[in-house]
Amino acid sequence: MRVMRYTPTDYAPYDFANRRHIGPSPAEMEEMLGVLGAESLDALIADVVPADLRQGEELDWAPISEQEALKRLRAVADKNTVLTSLIGQGYHGTVTPPVIQRNIFENPAWYTAYTPYQPEISQGRLEALLNYQTMIADLTGLEIANASLLDEATAAAEAMALAQRAGKSKATAFFVDHHCHPQTIDVIRTRAEPLGWDVIVGDPFADLDPEAVFGAIFQYPGTYGHCHDFSEVIAKLHDAKALAVVAADPLALCLLKSPGEMGADIAIGNTQRFGVPLGAGGPHAAYMACRDAYKRSMPGRIVGVSVDARGNRAYRLALQTREQHIRREKATSNVCTAQALLAVMASMYAVFHGPAGLRAIAQRVHQKAVRVADALEAVGYTVEPGTFFDTITVEVGAPREAVMRAAVEAGLNLRRVGETKIGIALDEAVWPEEIARLIAVFGGVDGGETDAYRLPEALIRQSEYLTHPIFHQNRAEAEMTRYMRRLADRDLALDRAMIPLGSCTMKLNATVEMMPVSWPEFSAIHPFAPADQRAGYAELIEDLNAKLCAITGYDAISMQPNSGAQGEYAGLLTIRAYHKARGEERDICLIPVNAHGTNPASAQMVGLKVVVVKCTERGDIDLDDFRAKAEEAGDRLAACMITYPSTHGVFEETVREVCEITHAHGGQVYLDGANLNAMVGLVKPGEIGADVSHLNLHKTFCIPHGGGGPGMGPIGVKAHLAEHLPGHVSEGGSGAVSAATFGSPSLLPISWAYCLMMGGAGLTQATKVAILSANYIAKRLEGAFDVLYRGSSGHVAHECIIDTRPLKESAGVTVDDVAKRLIDNGFHAPTMSWPVAGTLMIEPTESEPKAELDRFIAAMLSIREEARAIEDGTLDRENNPLAHAPHTMEDLVGDWDRPYSREQACFPPGAFRVDKYWAPVNRVDNAYGDRNLVCSCPPLEEYLEAAE
Ligand SMILES: *Cc1c(COP(=O)(O)O)cnc(C)c1O
Repeated sequence: MRVMRYTPTDYAPYDFANRRHIGPSPAEMEEMLGVLGAESLDALIADVVPADLRQGEELDWAPISEQEALKRLRAVADKNTVLTSLIGQGYHGTVTPPVIQRNIFENPAWYTAYTPYQPEISQGRLEALLNYQTMIADLTGLEIANASLLDEATAAAEAMALAQRAGKSKATAFFVDHHCHPQTIDVIRTRAEPLGWDVIVGDPFADLDPEAVFGAIFQYPGTYGHCHDFSEVIAKLHDAKALAVVAADPLALCLLKSPGEMGADIAIGNTQRFGVPLGAGGPHAAYMACRDAYKRSMPGRIVGVSVDARGNRAYRLALQTREQHIRREKATSNVCTAQALLAVMASMYAVFHGPAGLRAIAQRVHQKAVRVADALEAVGYTVEPGTFFDTITVEVGAPREAVMRAAVEAGLNLRRVGETKIGIALDEAVWPEEIARLIAVFGGVDGGETDAYRLPEALIRQSEYLTHPIFHQNRAEAEMTRYMRRLADRDLALDRAMIPLGSCTMKLNATVEMMPVSWPEFSAIHPFAPADQRAGYAELIEDLNAKLCAITGYDAISMQPNSGAQGEYAGLLTIRAYHKARGEERDICLIPVNAHGTNPASAQMVGLKVVVVKCTERGDIDLDDFRAKAEEAGDRLAACMITYPSTHGVFEETVREVCEITHAHGGQVYLDGANLNAMVGLVKPGEIGADVSHLNLHKTFCIPHGGGGPGMGPIGVKAHLAEHLPGHVSEGGSGAVSAATFGSPSLLPISWAYCLMMGGAGLTQATKVAILSANYIAKRLEGAFDVLYRGSSGHVAHECIIDTRPLKESAGVTVDDVAKRLIDNGFHAPTMSWPVAGTLMIEPTESEPKAELDRFIAAMLSIREEARAIEDGTLDRENNPLAHAPHTMEDLVGDWDRPYSREQACFPPGAFRVDKYWAPVNRVDNAYGDRNLVCSCPPLEEYLEAAE
């Protein structure tokens, strides 16, 4: 018998974490370094990263294994207490249908997808988001809806801004219903203050002077349960040319008259209770709908219907010219990452239940509230309001704390309202025995199920909703499963191929990191549950904060922002508050011309005047121009916003000087942290002169992109800014930028697990390999394409920009053609035409294996060869595989009159023979979609036509 010898050096735990997360094997890295002519990985890094910027100490925590990480997460989870929360205030218990939990929420085909900028590989999620928009438009009774916003409170703030932009009133005040959720009122105040708008909070039926405001927002039902008809106040607002916003609970709208029927111009709200777990505050999809007239001013992304090159129906993102990446400081908002995955879940909840199912759920929720109200009234309590949907308020007098305690002992969280009242919000998930316990807490007797209604008679909904066939055809789980599978199969996500998106860091979202997100101890916690029930979260957040501080060199972190752009906004507000506290009025923000579009859009949102700074030919900030503009701004200089490494993917050597110049004029440095994947363990933004940065946890720290959200964009700040970070009403503070205290806490176990498993050295290694992989690609593509912008050593950082403009001249091949041809090769295109028009920005990340890098390189080289064939006349200038890309299965059948073969069309290098990814549509016509704007599900007849 042969004895196998075990060599213990192969897979020590440290190596294991690395080998799992890091794509290239040690041997492959040697090969890659060989191609680059580098002695070693460290020698390469020494060449790429300027020595004087390197951090002194290494990140020092030890790595742990997957199993250990799960154990740590379990221990922390166990410190959270899952009670039944009847707190309401915008967050409700809900039942996530298991078929949706497993097939969407826990399915990498959905959660690892990128934002659907390339429509041909995004038809599945685009359809799901179109369903979402249709659902929202129907329920709100308005004409057009977007594909989600970050949370209800920011949606309310966006609605205020939309009302100001789109309305004709010249007033400078905004009215807020005193029955709006407290966090909504606070976020609106935060948004209004820098823009010089007054916020008037009051009773819409007593305090609202329509002439004095450009708009008003009403909560429906109100935070304490009242259901008012706002039709008359809305009519008065319209007489005064002001716009009306209604913040509405979508489940209530299944029974109640819609905001559109009351005349509202805009509706916003949260779709959390459509099957999306509480998650201690998020992520959930907020919605916005508006009248057709305001669609061009609406923030966020809108999915529209267009046609492909064959005239078949195809979906795409519509009206993109409104967005920040085009309009910059004139953009309608800074919303980039939103909540696509959660919007998909909510839409599937509606697809699964259909209108009758939703109505039944809403009725049951209402009847639970009636059952509680009846029982409490029977023992002498005063219950308000007289008519309600799901929320009631009970006057308990002095012994309130005793009742609250008894409720917790009975496993129930209730809400404190005023000094002597208790709020109770019922939901789909509450069990009958919990209702009985609740009633017993108040000394009442549960009368059992009731058929009684206490809805306001005049507000009972008469209009139909969700009439479209999509909400009627998938009742059976077998069909539902297949529908979600069909849509997922139309999309190209990370579970199929690398997504080499420059600046967006589409790295591995490890399964083990994702698992805790579904645990009830993380997912079933109400954001405003008592702090002791969130002790596990507190511990997790504290440790993650400490690690993020160690990584960035900052002193404090705010977890509030739900996206990178929201982090920019929060960071600039922090800077603003700092200047203000020192009695300084500063209003100028210097932003280099190559900055991400969200930078100027965010600056504009906090009332800063954007001054654009030039870049040099090499893509660096033009230091002379920067100095001149800083001097010109003088004591008006509030901040500069820079990105490091630069958006051109270069470690600029002048970064310290840029910071020094800014500081010399009293300004603060905002460093956009989207490229932190090139810095972790090597360079700390807080050490090179920056004062504040956002960290895109959905880029560098493994939170999946979800097809356009969720995200987390916490900000790190130096000590002097810490006291100016956003506060939150739930902790007695103000100045919030998000509805929930810690943004979307249920995502944080992902980033924490990543940091724990990698250890400090593993994270540093990841950065180095990300840089190695980018340089390997740049080197291998050299000669075939020009690689734009390199550092002084001739290297790129963690991404590289390749120039496809010469192909336009030599062969008529556009950057679009290259991007679409890559689909045939089995890839998602790199970032297109940003930061330089006509180029592709490639970021491979550390987690792509060398084989995948090589497959991509082969694809790019073959595209270059096809362009060459056009140049030398072997391929036709118009009728060639690049111009017709992507090819679909339709191209395999029927007549074929093209001068190139079907084989070449469909199976170019990189494409798998067996596991070929087939785009479901040919090239999508963008102009057609905007000319013929359709943003809800097309009518039934079109489905019939398509089937013929
Ligand atoms: C991704 C990105 C942002 C915006 O982040 P979101 O989370 O999408 O809002 C800002 N700046 C840069 C450079 C980015 O790459």
